[in-house]
Amino acid sequence: MTAIGPVRRDGRGDPFFDGAASDRLVVRRCASCERWFAPDATGCPGCGTDDLTWAEASGEAVLVSWAVAHFRTGETAPLALVELAEGPWMYTRLEAVAAPREGLPLRARFVHPDEGESYPVFEERGR
Ligand SMILES: [Zn+2]
Repeated sequence: MTAIGPVRRDGRGDPFFDGAASDRLVVRRCASCERWFAPDATGCPGCGTDDLTWAEASGEAVLVSWAVAHFRTGETAPLALVELAEGPWMYTRLEAVAAPREGLPLRARFVHPDEGESYPVFEERGR
């Protein structure tokens, strides 16, 4: 199993990647109603504001669903939808999970590749 090439900054924003570079999971949070959102969220459906701040999450999550992506190059990558302890769902990569199941406790770990951005992967908690 190999990675899918270097990770580039995308819609998730600089604080997400700056956080990952220093081993912190930084996601969006609504300053007025204190709900948490995925790093690519653009607004709060709760109160209607599009002024989300950034905040550091615990890095703990549970597995919601997963799939193995197959690329034309023949590479595969395990992709997952996880629910952070703070509530939001985000798409991420799974690593070192032998037997994925719904509700599996996960924890973020950060990969710092030579090329491209640091990024989180989620692995089984308590290993
Ligand atoms: Zn809000």
